Amino acid sequence: MARVISLANQKGGVGKTTTTINLGACLSELGKQVLVIDIDPQGNATSGLGIKKVDVTQDIYDVIINELPLQKTIMKTERSGLDIVPATIQLAGAEMELTSMMARETRLKEAIMTIQDNYDYILIDCPPSLGQLSINAFTASNSIIIPVQSEYYALEGLSQLLNTIRLVQKHFNPNLAIEGVLLTMFDARTNLGTQVVNEVQSYFGDRVYKTIIPRNTRLAEAPSYGLPIIDFDRKSRGAETYLQLAEEVVKNDD
Ligand code: ADP
Ligand code: MG
Repeated sequence: MARVISLANQKGGVGKTTTTINLGACLSELGKQVLVIDIDPQGNATSGLGIKKVDVTQDIYDVIINELPLQKTIMKTERSGLDIVPATIQLAGAEMELTSMMARETRLKEAIMTIQDNYDYILIDCPPSLGQLSINAFTASNSIIIPVQSEYYALEGLSQLLNTIRLVQKHFNPNLAIEGVLLTMFDARTNLGTQVVNEVQSYFGDRVYKTIIPRNTRLAEAPSYGLPIIDFDRKSRGAETYLQLAEEVVKNDD
């Protein structure tokens, strides 16, 4: 049965989507069956994996709001072993619509349970907010990976995220764990980057991944080609480090 992992941090631009796409692709490279579920109305994981808006007829909105079977929304990517459930801008309305619905926190969980046996890993790319969509993701997950940008104010807002995690643990999902904290966009040339790494490590201890993702322009270029980094530029530092991360994630789950 798949391990379900949310990629979450309510701050935008910290590397959630980049990590979802590339960790997903690298896990599939290691022979795992992977499903990415995009629950950000921006749909960046969807386009970053090469899915064109015109080809999406049904998406995660229809699953969460209209109870369409999740299986019907799964699309193949160019990489074998890596599938995606797309999101489109219509998902933006779900946040409001959910507030008046029954069993609103468990809707995604119930949908995922129907296909959980078909995958080894299910990665949920969360939106930059702690609303109903993120709560649905946390309720459906075994654990959470928190990407943190190696910059000033890296830890800002994390107490809010940790509070939300505690609330979900208390009310909906007692077994929800923090899978790991991932430092992203690290720039070894600045003292600041190193300071932030030390700060995050002293706050989260051994929950911080040994793998640190460097700032690498190839990682920023790959999404416009609709490809994960290992299929776009396998020799790049970005590809090397995301492969290393995938190995670390698999090792931690043993
Ligand atoms: P989020 O999903 O948290 O909003 P993204 O993954 O979309 O963050 O990343 C924000 C921007 O930074 C994107 O343009 C992305 O391509 C770029 N980016 C992410 N990680 C890296 C990295 N390690 N090196 C360089 N650019 C990156
Ligand atoms: Mg994103």
